[in-house]
Amino acid sequence: MAGMDLGVGSPAARIERAEVVIVGARVAGAATAAHLARSGHDVVMLDRADFPSDTISTHVIARSGMVQLDRLGVIDELVKRGTPPLRRVEFSSGLGLLSRDLKDRYGIDFLLAPRRYVLDDVLQGAALAAGARLRTGVSVDEVVRDSTGRVVGVRGHDESGPVEVLGRHVVGADGLNSRVARSVAAPLTVERESSGAAQYAYLAGEWEAIEYYLTDGVFAGVFPTNAAEACVWVITSESVARRYRREHLGADGAFAALLEEHVPELAARVRPRSQSTPVRGMLRMPNHFRRPYGPGWSLVGDAGYHRDAITGHGISDAVRDAELLADSLDSSLRCPPMEASALAAYELARDRMAAPIFETTVALAALPDQETFVGLQRGLAAQIDVMAEELFRRPLPRTSGALLTTTTPERQPAVSGATT
Ligand SMILES: Cc1cc2nc3c(=O)[nH]c(=O)nc-3n(C[C@H](O)[C@H](O)[C@H](O)COP(=O)(O)OP(=O)(O)OC[C@H]3O[C@@H](n4cnc5c(N)ncnc54)[C@H](O)[C@@H]3O)c2cc1C
Repeated sequence: MAGMDLGVGSPAARIERAEVVIVGARVAGAATAAHLARSGHDVVMLDRADFPSDTISTHVIARSGMVQLDRLGVIDELVKRGTPPLRRVEFSSGLGLLSRDLKDRYGIDFLLAPRRYVLDDVLQGAALAAGARLRTGVSVDEVVRDSTGRVVGVRGHDESGPVEVLGRHVVGADGLNSRVARSVAAPLTVERESSGAAQYAYLAGEWEAIEYYLTDGVFAGVFPTNAAEACVWVITSESVARRYRREHLGADGAFAALLEEHVPELAARVRPRSQSTPVRGMLRMPNHFRRPYGPGWSLVGDAGYHRDAITGHGISDAVRDAELLADSLDSSLRCPPMEASALAAYELARDRMAAPIFETTVALAALPDQETFVGLQRGLAAQIDVMAEELFRRPLPRTSGALLTTTTPERQPAVSGATT
């Protein structure tokens, strides 16, 4: 079994300890750490990346995710860091142009699409302010188990050599290719076809609204973000994305050609603007759930549940599940015999809340005809509202009176994360 150990503590490794060890410190890990630390737990986040840094994402946040960011108390800080509030949504398709202003519901009257070097930094700031610790440059290789097979920590390395971080519970918040999930052999519980590809770049200029463009087989859009730029993106099937990359000698040529040929009105607006990054993206986006817990471990965010980016709901899923998991973990850490039932409740709640949007995501990712696509989008808007309302009405997580300030020093972004 991966990670099986005859004893805890390799002779050569430095040993560190915390009550809860969280692998991954972006949206899922930092939000989980913030909730747990506010409940009085001793938490350390480990990440191999340096922060603040970007990762692959077009990063618009749905109303459901905004409700969660509001519960975490970080929205003002995101706006203060220059993330523009987005109050208008435009949707252009063969059926016409729909334009609407965002309604004020569940305490939210604008959306945000913060660059990840801002969002992840602000969430980490919230966790640090509540007392959590962050260790960067630590690459986790596997979990450590005791003689009963229970997970009691992780083993990895940093620039000084091997390190083991031991704790009462290990959370894998380490993304789609989660080492923790692999090391505990967390099984897939639901798996659907993965056919979608998303590519994007940052374009300078004033962009005011969230814009969507639908043509046959192509979905594109604009998310205004920090630094007076917009994330301009295009989604196609994986096979179309790969064909364009072959025919246009790489990602930048493929991106420009897809916009020119399929969304000329957007291409015309993009052409004169300067592009500040190379095109990035993901050419195959899996749709699956994993079993998110076992003795001494749990998974949150993309590590436990991944869906195509077409619905732009991954960040919202991650911050929702961070609170659901933190609630369950708080109970189980206070009363260890409750561990299995508390974590089973987390899985049930996650799956119940995620399922409707998951089904819509899988249907949209197949890029059906425009009429069907627009109908699914209407259904998605209703599903997001149902989730936002349920999250809004949940009792706030228990706090131990920890600090709720989220201000962290301004730092310059680095770029990390694989590009395709
Ligand atoms: C192309 C694309 C566009 C998207 N657009 C949107 C969108 O518009 N809106 C939206 O809501 N969602 C979007 N998503 C989804 C969203 O980006 C993810 O759901 C979100 O990033 C998940 O956060 P996470 O914290 O679970 O994982 P991640 O953001 O992947 O963070 C995982 C962290 O774990 C660390 N890590 C991994 N392995 C190790 C290890 N072995 N040791 C130490 N550290 C490790 C990594 O360094 C990383 O910092 C998009 C995704 C893609 C691919």
